[in-house]
Amino acid sequence: MLNVHSHGPPKKIEILRRNLRLWESGLSDLRRMVREFQINCDWDEFGRFYGSAGPDGEKHIDEIADTLNQLGHEYRWLTGDEMHSRIGTNFYKRGLHASGSALVNPASLLRGLARHLPANVQAYEDCPVTGIVRANGCFTVQTESGKVVADRLVLAAGVFLKEFGAASGRYVPMATYASLTAPLSEEELGQLGAAQPFGLLGGSEYGATIRLTKDKRLFVRNVFKHVPGAPTNARDVAEIAKLHRKAMTSRWPGLARTPFQHSWGGIMAFTWNDGTVFGELEPGLFAVLTNDVSPMTRGAAAGRLLADLMEDQASDLLSTQLSIPQARRLPPRPFLVLGIALRRGLLRAVAHREF
Ligand SMILES: Cc1cc2nc3c(=O)[nH]c(=O)nc-3n(C[C@H](O)[C@H](O)[C@H](O)COP(=O)(O)OP(=O)(O)OC[C@H]3O[C@@H](n4cnc5c(N)ncnc54)[C@H](O)[C@@H]3O)c2cc1C
Repeated sequence: MLNVHSHGPPKKIEILRRNLRLWESGLSDLRRMVREFQINCDWDEFGRFYGSAGPDGEKHIDEIADTLNQLGHEYRWLTGDEMHSRIGTNFYKRGLHASGSALVNPASLLRGLARHLPANVQAYEDCPVTGIVRANGCFTVQTESGKVVADRLVLAAGVFLKEFGAASGRYVPMATYASLTAPLSEEELGQLGAAQPFGLLGGSEYGATIRLTKDKRLFVRNVFKHVPGAPTNARDVAEIAKLHRKAMTSRWPGLARTPFQHSWGGIMAFTWNDGTVFGELEPGLFAVLTNDVSPMTRGAAAGRLLADLMEDQASDLLSTQLSIPQARRLPPRPFLVLGIALRRGLLRAVAHREF
């Protein structure tokens, strides 16, 4: 749950400052609700580590520090030895700890939020929308088990937005994958330095995300894959989990026999220009897409701001949200597919030590 995040040199510091207001706002909304509703989701104000393992990580971690300097954010450097005593690996040459962001169990958070919806809101699960029909100024949302009629409608279907004819050709569906162990034994935890929860982002864009959760499970996330068609099948996810295993054992050789309990993938939306899909698409029909960097916090803010927009509740934050350019139209195929493959290959090649 990031409050700020940026790879590469801080070229567009004003844009980052604008995004920062949105990230911070989403994060503080979520923090408030977790406290108010006492949602048990392992919320932890740990902040985040960045780690650098090779030349690309070294370059990027300096740029991250430069960006944090320009934003006036506090951070602390960790030497390779300090990283080793905190998380038990010599994999990283250097680390950086930045505060302000939170670690969370996202499934528990969402379940907790769903349990505390306002009394006038009803959630339906496992109930796919099969069609939307507009007639006589109303929308009829059709499902296999019934229909809902509304005079205003918000589409918030993530990468499936285009199935509803919204934002087609304006975002790229990219899958990323993760594996999670069972709670580690005392002996396994002995491999992990202080054996305290942490969240670590790779210094470079293609680096792995590593976490030790509050219930002592190790989490590894890496690999991005363009998935314009069907989601990745179970066999391919199992292949990717082998890369997670490699990432885990190259950091902690003593965990070579520790199995993963779960491996999965999920699809995120990336735009060409870090733009938005936000607002009224046609009279009464609204859409919001959580995309690009730190979607959980920026998406939380965008959701609330869309409600403000619908109710004519002006605010500085809403003006900030509205100042973000709409997601730009992507190049046509095959240029798009080729461009993504080249960029992915390049990022992976330069960042292979961070993987
Ligand atoms: C491994 C992994 C790690 C990640 N880590 C982070 C992280 O550390 N920080 C962060 O900020 N983000 C992270 N993300 C990204 C984040 O999870 C997503 O960006 C976020 O969940 C998107 O939220 P959303 O509500 O917009 O979309 P989604 O969560 O995709 O929700 C869209 C919903 O629409 C529903 N839907 C689609 N079509 C229909 C239909 N026809 N009828 C009814 N319902 C429909 C879907 O079932 C789904 O429930 C991670 C993602 C993955 C996969």
